[in-house]
Amino acid sequence: MRNNIERVYFTEEMIQTRVKELGTQLSEDYRGKEPLLLGVLKGSFIFLADLSRHMDMLCDIEFITASSYGAGTETSGEVKITKALDSVVEGRHVIIVEDILDTGLTLEFLKKYLSSLNPASLKICTFLDKPSRRKVPLRADYVGFECVDAFYVGYGLDYAGHYRNLPFIGSLKPDIYA
Ligand code: 5GP
Repeated sequence: MRNNIERVYFTEEMIQTRVKELGTQLSEDYRGKEPLLLGVLKGSFIFLADLSRHMDMLCDIEFITASSYGAGTETSGEVKITKALDSVVEGRHVIIVEDILDTGLTLEFLKKYLSSLNPASLKICTFLDKPSRRKVPLRADYVGFECVDAFYVGYGLDYAGHYRNLPFIGSLKPDIYA
């Protein structure tokens, strides 16, 4: 699996240091609020697991599945919710936890949908942010790292279902896509 990586952009150490900082920041910002961490599956599962363990507070954890990518590396532009929410959002302080913010179409859609459920507050926490790719003017409230336009795998991010379990974030060798 590691032989297929062309370049490592974020090492395991960089990731863990930054996630700890984000968790500490969220713990301060949400003190006494019992936030609902809402992970967008599947990509956010590792980030959410690490982030939540750096939050020293009561919080609820929930997942939603929204997908705008097929099996390839380009967004289809169409967002679908394929796993509905099991928790009540009304009146809750909701933090959407996402792996990567790219065109912004997925999070714009989710933000509108969740806003319609009347949360007490709604913020976005994304691990990676690719601002150069944005198609809608959406900004995350908490960002792990800004990154250049590349296709990343690892730390939850996949290519055709694989590489999510890499502890670092990198790009694939071009012949893997061939
Ligand atoms: P957006 O709707 O912002 O274009 O896309 C968000 C989703 O696209 C992410 O949650 C992720 O699933 C996928 N995505 C965007 N960029 C990348 C990338 O560089 N690598 C991987 N593996 N997925 C990406």
